[in-house]
Amino acid sequence: MFEKVLIANRGEIALRIHRACREMGIQTVAVHSTADADAMHVRLADESVCIGPASARESYLNIPAILSAASITGADAIHPGIGFLSENAQFAEMVEEHGFTFIGPTAEHIRIMGDKVTAKKTVMEQGLPVVPGSDGPVPTLEEAEKIGRETGYPILIKAAAGGGGKGMKVARNPDQLKEAYQLARGEARAAFGNDEVYIEKYLGKPRHIEIQLLGDEHGNCVHFGERDCSVQRRHQKVIEEAPSPALNAEQRAFIGDLAAKTAAAIGYRGVGTMEFLFEDGQFYFIEMNTRLQVEHTITEMITGIDLVREQIRVATGAPLGYGQADIRFQGHSIECRVNAEHPETFIPSPGKIDGYHAPGGLGVRVDSALYDGYRIPPHYDSLIAKLVVHGTTRNECLMRLRRTIEEYVIGGVDTTLPLHQRIIAQQAFIDGNYDIHWLEQLMGMKK
Ligand code: ADP
Repeated sequence: MFEKVLIANRGEIALRIHRACREMGIQTVAVHSTADADAMHVRLADESVCIGPASARESYLNIPAILSAASITGADAIHPGIGFLSENAQFAEMVEEHGFTFIGPTAEHIRIMGDKVTAKKTVMEQGLPVVPGSDGPVPTLEEAEKIGRETGYPILIKAAAGGGGKGMKVARNPDQLKEAYQLARGEARAAFGNDEVYIEKYLGKPRHIEIQLLGDEHGNCVHFGERDCSVQRRHQKVIEEAPSPALNAEQRAFIGDLAAKTAAAIGYRGVGTMEFLFEDGQFYFIEMNTRLQVEHTITEMITGIDLVREQIRVATGAPLGYGQADIRFQGHSIECRVNAEHPETFIPSPGKIDGYHAPGGLGVRVDSALYDGYRIPPHYDSLIAKLVVHGTTRNECLMRLRRTIEEYVIGGVDTTLPLHQRIIAQQAFIDGNYDIHWLEQLMGMKK
């Protein structure tokens, strides 16, 4: 087992990783920017190293500074967390070249899945269904027009290097294609420095269903069921729940087993998530994330398994030690992503926390690095807390979530808690009857 792990991240996820390490008896090293000197993960870690100024490019994305911090502190492994360098294949390679263990998949798997065109090809070869569209990149407008005719409108132009919903544009008819194609490429170039795009049929009312996977380096892979992440705004998840109210036991077993078989076939190691769209009883693969995900918490709540602990364990080379039949599902879990943003305009609201009270009680979990008097810096992602509840039934879970949001006090800044309150009060949400467009329709935004 590792003796010391460097956590190359910040915020609630850095704290989440610290907690797993602590329970495993592993020492932790926090790295931080000058803007995060007072952060909770820095306070709790055994050691901390300042790796640069506030700008993420010069700190949390600064590979030489992170590797130096690992050397100086004598860490034996690096956990990349979520975002930042977590899906950077070159970073994974450099970590290993410098003699540390990268807590994640191989650089090769990060590379394959990081290019969504290659990812789709790879899983298709293993028999996974994908969204119909182009077979590969679409380098010219003429090619895009041809695919549009073949696939039928509406279509979605997507960045091959995409993430965070960026570089994605809908063309509802041939007249909209030129603009959508150019906008998607421009956005992809700006966000990822790579303007390669591909095309998919734009599905009208799908749900976003994803499968949590865990593989070891001995060819074993299991799944931990699905998460329904259909409540989205701008292709970004707002609320997630597990299990999905839309799947029956047969569909659940079908897609879980297929995803785990595919991951095992490519020799995947570590935690990973295959994302699918689900419409009219059919699953369509859209991408695989080769890292821990924000919403891993709800899977932990219904399985009782610490996914970060498992991730660290398999990174040491240990075998899973259990099989699919050993994984038991119990009850229901819902997560609200609480952002420091205005609940209607979504304008970021950094600043000082003035009054903080986290909810508690049976079945309540708050993953957050907030504390009273903490100053949320303006430089990073606005996710400040994950409010997670568990209940024996979905109804119990909803009731618990309602009272938990009422209890939660985060003073001094705007948060999206009122939005969550509004969402969970909707009859459609209570009925589990929503698709990926539902939230934007509720908010009166155009589809
Ligand atoms: P990113 O990596 O940027 O998050 P994804 O491919 O995971 O991009 O898609 C993000 C979201 O965009 C999905 O959850 C879904 O809501 C929507 N989306 C993606 N592909 C399609 C499609 N073919 N049809 C309809 N919606 C889609």
